[in-house]
Amino acid sequence: MRYSAFEILKQGLSGNKGWKPVWREPEPKAEYDVIIVGGGGHGLSTAYYLSKVYGMRNIAVLEKGWLGSGNIGRNTTIIRSNYMMPGNQPFYEFSLKLWEGLEQDFNYNAMVSQRSILNLFHSDPQRDAFVRRANAMILSGADAELADEAQLRRELPFLDFDNARFPIKGGLYQRRGGTVRHDAVAWGYARGADSHGVDIIQNCEVTGFDIENGVCTGVQSSKGRIRAKKVAVCVAGSSSRVMSLAGMRLPIESHVLQAFVTEGLKPTLPGVITFGAGHFYVSQSDKGGLVFGGDIDGYNTYAQRGNLPVVEDVAEGGMAIMPMIGRTRLLRSWGGVMDMSMDGSPFIDKTHIEGLYFNGGWCYGGFKATPASGYCYAHLLANDTPHPVATEMRLDRFKRGHIIDEKGQGNQPNLH
Ligand SMILES: Cc1cc2nc3c(=O)[nH]c(=O)nc-3n(C[C@H](O)[C@H](O)[C@H](O)COP(=O)(O)OP(=O)(O)OC[C@H]3O[C@@H](n4cnc5c(N)ncnc54)[C@H](O)[C@@H]3O)c2cc1C
Repeated sequence: MRYSAFEILKQGLSGNKGWKPVWREPEPKAEYDVIIVGGGGHGLSTAYYLSKVYGMRNIAVLEKGWLGSGNIGRNTTIIRSNYMMPGNQPFYEFSLKLWEGLEQDFNYNAMVSQRSILNLFHSDPQRDAFVRRANAMILSGADAELADEAQLRRELPFLDFDNARFPIKGGLYQRRGGTVRHDAVAWGYARGADSHGVDIIQNCEVTGFDIENGVCTGVQSSKGRIRAKKVAVCVAGSSSRVMSLAGMRLPIESHVLQAFVTEGLKPTLPGVITFGAGHFYVSQSDKGGLVFGGDIDGYNTYAQRGNLPVVEDVAEGGMAIMPMIGRTRLLRSWGGVMDMSMDGSPFIDKTHIEGLYFNGGWCYGGFKATPASGYCYAHLLANDTPHPVATEMRLDRFKRGHIIDEKGQGNQPNLH
């Protein structure tokens, strides 16, 4: 069923009785060409592109909970491609381009809103670093724009320009950045994949891999054994636990990241704003709530909830740039488990076990990557070679000394 203005009219006139379920609820078959482990954004987009672009049909997505229960439904919805490193920038720009055509492509309203992202800077050296980043972005085809203090005073008068401990000197804009309704992305990809015949199986936890003579031949799951020619893992915060079932130890740690939403306010923030002298970023949802977050909690955990010191730290960051939010009531907060890699960059790669593939290490930036991650993972699964924009996202890059250290923090997963 295609969604269109005509369909809304037709259904409206017939009592809205003809809408079909957005995806089927099939039982698993005995064997698939590809099993995707994890029905988050990346797993579902992989299934969608595998079926749509690479013509494969005999695919299952196995999800231990329900679609949207992981980070795809927990993130702060920001998309951007303001990356600098050669191994990252073309990939994230490819992703942003896919976002720009996504809703027409999968015929679903994901509320893609290119309302801009602004990274504030507070010192001359920080401005120089942002100019360097902007130049790298422009050179690889992305948009970037430097704003001085006078421009920001005109555009964003509510920021604290006059009394701040870290005065705002300007900012780096990416106008094509913005926000997307996160769970609609999961639903849109699920619907698209299902319409191409992909079996999406919820409440089906993968509990082991069948590996014979170095070849992965299928999975063990809470719904029984299922054979597969290829098994593609993308379970985000559960990466280390799931890959340990295949005897693999990953260069990834799991940490919790919290997000916060306030009561609804009148439209105030035109786009996404990030603080440059602490970790705080904020946007305003279409319902009016301020959606914001900051640092990970900083200790290893698999719990989907955080602790109060980070709440205080994030609130301080917010107050440092926008004192007016001090009177706003916080409605909700939650946490998601992040797959923090050692250099802050992801993996889309084969493993040493034939037929077993891995996608993970997205840290807290994997939502914006959802379309490109799925596309490139599908390319790898279909061709057994990396997609041209994902050639550096290899598991052996630490052994080779080719890390993609976007922040220049070294091998410190808690700092990326
Ligand atoms: C608070 C917060 C804010 C964030 N903000 C942003 C942001 O603004 N911009 C951005 O780009 N990124 C952001 N991120 C990061 C982004 O959400 C993640 O990097 C991305 O969603 C991870 O990929 P995913 O969608 O596939 O993960 P998930 O949705 O977590 O999918 C993984 C799935 O695997 C399933 N699974 C686990 N184990 C098994 C098993 N054994 N068998 C079967 N299934 C299994 C899980 O149930 C889960 O549904 C944020 C994350 C959080 C938590």
